[in-house]
Amino acid sequence: MTSVLERLAGKTPAFSVEFFPPRDAADEQVLWRAIRELEALDPAFVSITYGAGGSGRDRTIRATGRVAQETTLVPMAHLTAVDHSVAELRNVIGWYAAVGVRNILALRGDPPGDPNGEWTAHPQGLNYAEELVRLCRELGDFCVGVAAFPYGHPRSADLDTDTEHLVRKLRAGADFAIAQLFFEADDFLRLRDRVVARGCDAALLPGLMPLTTPRTLAKTVELSGAPVPDSVARALDPFTGDAAGFRRAGVELVTRMGERLLAEGVPGLHFYTLNRSKATREVVADLGLAPARTTA
Ligand code: FAD
Repeated sequence: MTSVLERLAGKTPAFSVEFFPPRDAADEQVLWRAIRELEALDPAFVSITYGAGGSGRDRTIRATGRVAQETTLVPMAHLTAVDHSVAELRNVIGWYAAVGVRNILALRGDPPGDPNGEWTAHPQGLNYAEELVRLCRELGDFCVGVAAFPYGHPRSADLDTDTEHLVRKLRAGADFAIAQLFFEADDFLRLRDRVVARGCDAALLPGLMPLTTPRTLAKTVELSGAPVPDSVARALDPFTGDAAGFRRAGVELVTRMGERLLAEGVPGLHFYTLNRSKATREVVADLGLAPARTTA
């Protein structure tokens, strides 16, 4: 099974897509329609998020295994350390290896219930993503990614400390990082500059979500931890109450941001799809990232 790094090196520029595990049979159909529609565009890899706990985790494991076994796609499994003992983490990693998943996004995860609540490590578990990177490396020939935060992780004291910790994770054996959502290309490029200034040249992928609805805009505020900047408000405010106009302007905004990032030499664009493919397909086609035969 090919690694994410091999795919990024072989396909320049590349794009990749992220899904979350289905909650029920109807969700599963929606997810698989999106996977099949995107498969035709040959993304560099497909990632599936790791549930916050219990059955969500089993659903992640099943969905990632299905991608590995039933599609031509290169899967990447997310894995979080929260609420797992090291023995459990070893089991999950072993299971991923057994079904042919070679790529893991190693994360700490948020405390269950209130994501901003107090972080408590499992008594036999890990404290930071950095330790999970080491565990993955110890257990097999995995290609390992980590999370990066253009505005800093909410628990970090400041941007310098945040960058220091990101670089530590990368130096612990991670091959690349994927950035949390952000609003303007410069926000990502400043993160890249901070990492490069520390002598680290690992691949950093920007994470983008097509702004198709006010809900996706609200999600971007929530996940990025940043308020909507004036540039974005100016582009989208005129379309309050006009769903089609909002979608057109939002998709255009994200497309132009992707264009700028590609011009700045990013190795690929990672799309948060919310298990829908249409807007991602539009952006990817507009940027010339899909094979010509499938974009007509
Ligand atoms: P860490 O890198 O461990 O960082 C956590 C905090 O500790 C940061 O403030 C950091 O600066 C600090 N820190 C790190 N190392 C040290 C150290 N050595 N000493 C002191 N402080 C340190 N969540 C899910 O539940 N499932 C998912 O599938 C998922 N996928 C994600 C994908 C992406 C691309 C991103 C960006 C986030 C994702 N998340 C997911 C959310 C993520 O789990 C949370 O944001 C979590 O709070 C941080 O995880 P981390 O891996 O960055 O943690």
